[in-house]
Amino acid sequence: MSLDQIVDGLSEVSCDVLVIGGGTAGPMAALKAKLKNPKANVVLLEKANVKRSGAISMGMDGLNNAVIPGYATPEQYTKEITIANDGIVDQKAVYKYAQNCYKIIEELDSFGIRFLKNENGDYAVKKVHHIGTYVLPMPNGETVKKALYRQLRRARILISNRYMATRLLKSSDGRIAGAISVNTRTAEILVIKAKAVILCMGAAGRLGLPTSGYMFGTYENAANSGDGYAMAYHAGAALANLECYQINPLIKDYNGPACAYVAGPFGAFTANNEGSRFIECDYWSGQMMLEFYNELLSGKGPVFLQLKHLHPDTISEIESTLHKVERPTRGLFQQGRGVDYRNDSIEMHISEIGFCSGHSASGVFVDDNARTTVPGLYAAGDMASVPHNYMLGAFTNGSVAGIDAMEFADNHDFAEFDAADVAMERDRVLAPTRREDGIPPNQVEYKTRRLVNDYLQPPKVTRKYELGMRRLAETREDMQEHMIARNAHELLRALEVQSIMDCADMAVHASLYREESRWGLYHWRTDFPEKDNENWFCHTLLSKQNGKMTSEKRAVEPYVVPIADDEKDLYDKQRIRASA
Ligand SMILES: Cc1cc2nc3c(=O)[nH]c(=O)nc-3n(C[C@H](O)[C@H](O)[C@H](O)COP(=O)(O)OP(=O)(O)OC[C@H]3O[C@@H](n4cnc5c(N)ncnc54)[C@H](O)[C@@H]3O)c2cc1C
Repeated sequence: MSLDQIVDGLSEVSCDVLVIGGGTAGPMAALKAKLKNPKANVVLLEKANVKRSGAISMGMDGLNNAVIPGYATPEQYTKEITIANDGIVDQKAVYKYAQNCYKIIEELDSFGIRFLKNENGDYAVKKVHHIGTYVLPMPNGETVKKALYRQLRRARILISNRYMATRLLKSSDGRIAGAISVNTRTAEILVIKAKAVILCMGAAGRLGLPTSGYMFGTYENAANSGDGYAMAYHAGAALANLECYQINPLIKDYNGPACAYVAGPFGAFTANNEGSRFIECDYWSGQMMLEFYNELLSGKGPVFLQLKHLHPDTISEIESTLHKVERPTRGLFQQGRGVDYRNDSIEMHISEIGFCSGHSASGVFVDDNARTTVPGLYAAGDMASVPHNYMLGAFTNGSVAGIDAMEFADNHDFAEFDAADVAMERDRVLAPTRREDGIPPNQVEYKTRRLVNDYLQPPKVTRKYELGMRRLAETREDMQEHMIARNAHELLRALEVQSIMDCADMAVHASLYREESRWGLYHWRTDFPEKDNENWFCHTLLSKQNGKMTSEKRAVEPYVVPIADDEKDLYDKQRIRASA
């Protein structure tokens, strides 16, 4: 049989809890579910290979949001994230994370993942955020995935690598019943019946096109094509604040983090072309990105990460993390460009858009138990709506989801789904394989993502969005009628581009719905340039109702941690003001 040849096959298995996505949140969710009920069957389904998949596949430089006793309190953290997110936060979930994440750090430590400690053996936390101190470096963070994988093997979690989930199954009363997936090497269909399902499929990281022009040169793990967002949408789950995009300050043409979180505590900073600081704080937020954008347009760009003023030994120490842990290709890239941090600054730019709650707030709506609006369906990590929750949030909320989902599974039997739904999905999945000739998926994807850049990249202009919507609809028609997949690998790409298209449509819909500007650059609408707290101090929830994309407002839950009036706009004051 030739490589990736399409095989006709359909099989069905069942489990108590199905976790989809084996990157960061997924392994932790699977582990906690299994530990909660060791007799139950837990399946971890992954599009790639759990050993090296997801945002942390190569490792991670540090924890961006560790709430460590002695450095910070859950109340301080909850306040910081509320302000960073312009107040649109259901604090209960953030507060619960802040209360639980320290236990998870200790647990990760016990798995063999090492965090920076001082001479007394205490965690050595650094300040990067605007107000508090939450960054915990991981000098040998390249061990994360291996350590996690060992735990999965020990707990005998059933791992299904190379299966891409495509749609969720529900019963007629709306409860979750399982998922449909396709083997990425053979195109065989696997139906998994499950009492509870946890979605951990990461950010929608292939929405816009990187300025380098490389389709897979994304900041996010390139396998994260927004399948989780699309699947939740088609299952009728609500998605929150999708107009609050992810846009990152990245290394120009490399699209990796620069990374002020690592270098900042050593004295590096973001500077303009004159070598001056222009932002108060390097912590990523929409407000910070707006100042970054303004600086680029002001004639004082490009913007750089500046560290050449530091002692050469300090620079070597920074390099030992930045060039070895999270993105080992970075050193090679800089070398190729002839950039030596001792003499040169690192040119940065603004990334394309994406959805990611890990860095902003756009995600499948979840409560503080990681429950979505579909009974039995959970979400955690970058695709769930808990804002700014990064890697430790993925672990902590993955843990919450795993425990709650197993409780759900223990108290429910399998829900029945309609066999016609499987047949319909099989037809949809395989449609591109049944055409003799047509457009390959990479061309449809390139066009879709170019349209996203042309029309959707902020500042958001209503007229551009309306045009973008039309162009995307035309491309969707081409995709549905003419896209071909000549082998199983191309089929994977064809399915991914359908998720990307769904995410692009959701981005348009959500952005046009919120008629104000908020979250700095993330949702800057030129036709509604002001923040309008009177009408828009609320979440927006997008969902599929009677087959149509619909948006509605949802009130922000009463705060657990009060925010004083003079604190509310602290993140709006990012620009350094000249003092007399
Ligand atoms: C370059 C980079 C640097 C970062 N640096 C830091 C840092 O220093 N500190 C920090 O705290 N955070 C950092 N983060 C954020 C952190 O890594 C993420 O918030 C976190 O890892 C997200 O976890 P997740 O489980 O949601 O997604 P992921 O870990 O990305 O996992 C998603 C998984 O789902 C799988 N998947 C996707 N679609 C399907 C499908 N259809 N079927 C089956 N499987 C599927 C993917 O293959 C992947 O394995 C960084 C992120 C990036 C991208």
